[in-house]
Amino acid sequence: RKALYAQMRDLPAQTHDDVNISLNINAGLLIDVPHVIESGADGIGLYRTEIPFMVRSAMPDIEDQTRLYNRIFEQAEGRPVVFRTLDVGGDKLLPYWQDMTEENPAMGWRSIRITLDRPAVLVHQLRALIRAAHDRDLHVMFPMIAEVAEFRAARELLDRQLEREAGRGFVPRSVKVGAMLEVPALVWQANSLLGQVDFLSVGTNDLLQFMFAADRGNPRLEGRYDTLSPGVFSFLKHLVELCDDRNVRLTICGEMAGRPLEAMALIGLGVRRLSMAPASVGPVKEMVRSMNAKSVEQYVLSLLDSPSKSLRSRLKAFAIDHG
Ligand code: PEP
Ligand code: MG
Repeated sequence: RKALYAQMRDLPAQTHDDVNISLNINAGLLIDVPHVIESGADGIGLYRTEIPFMVRSAMPDIEDQTRLYNRIFEQAEGRPVVFRTLDVGGDKLLPYWQDMTEENPAMGWRSIRITLDRPAVLVHQLRALIRAAHDRDLHVMFPMIAEVAEFRAARELLDRQLEREAGRGFVPRSVKVGAMLEVPALVWQANSLLGQVDFLSVGTNDLLQFMFAADRGNPRLEGRYDTLSPGVFSFLKHLVELCDDRNVRLTICGEMAGRPLEAMALIGLGVRRLSMAPASVGPVKEMVRSMNAKSVEQYVLSLLDSPSKSLRSRLKAFAIDHG
C-alpha cells in the first residue's frame, strides 16, 4: 500500500467526475513539515503552533519563534501554511505556565480566550509570524472563536502588528486571516462572520464534543455519538451552503477529515478542502480517485432526514457497492 500511495503522490486528488479536492496536512513539530512534500499534499492546512511551545521548558521568545516559523516556511517549499495561533488550555497544557486546573477544562479558559486576556503572548507570536512571512504568503487562523467580536479583537491585534512590523521592513506578500469553527454558537453569526474572515476551518474534534455535549476524551462516551450522523451532516451541509454563497473558503481539519469514509461523506456534503494527519493523505487520495462526487452527494443528501443514530453502516455499504 505504501508503494501505491507513493505512486499516487503526484496524481491529483480528483474524483471520477472531475471534482478536485484539496488535501492538506496537519502539522505541529518541525519533523512533521517535510511530510507535506513526501505525501504530495497541497499545503499545511493546520499548523498547531502550541506543539513547539509544549515541548519546550520555557516560553520561546520572538526570535526563537521567528526562527522556527522561518524553517517551517522553508521546509514547506512554497506550499501554503496556515498557522493557527496558540491553542492552549483544555487538553493542551504548557508545563511552565500558571496552574490551569479547572472543573471543566474543555469549556474553560483556553485557546483564544487566554490569548485575548493575555495579549502580550499573542502579540509576540504575531510579530514572529509576520517577520518569518516577509515576502511570503501569511495565513493566520484563530482557534476556538465563539463570537464575531473575538475574531475582530484578534484580527485587530494582527493588523496593529502588521503596521508596526511594516515600519521595520517586514512585509508579507499577502495576508489571509481565518477563524476556526469549533464552537457551534459561531454558526449563528454566520452573516457577519463571513463578511470578515478570509477563510474558515472546522475543527470537528472540538465542534462535535460541543454539539453532542460529550467530552472528546471520555472513554465512557466512546461510540455513543457518531460523527457520521444526520445532525452532523445537516449542520455541515448548512455551513457549506453559507460559505459557498459568500465565497469563503472552507476546510475541515478535525480527525474525521483523515478517515476515508468520513472524507467521502464530507465531499458528498460539498466540502472541497480537507486537512489531515500526513499518513492519511494516501488513503484519502485513493478514496477520492475512486469516487463519484455527484452520486455520493445524492446518496448523502438522501440520508439527511434519517432517524438513525449513525449512518456509518449505510455509507460503508454504499462505498463497497461503488468500488
Ligand atoms: C479540532 O478541534 O478539531 C482541531 C483540529 O483542533 P485540535 O484537535 O488541535 O483541538
Ligand atoms: Mg480544537
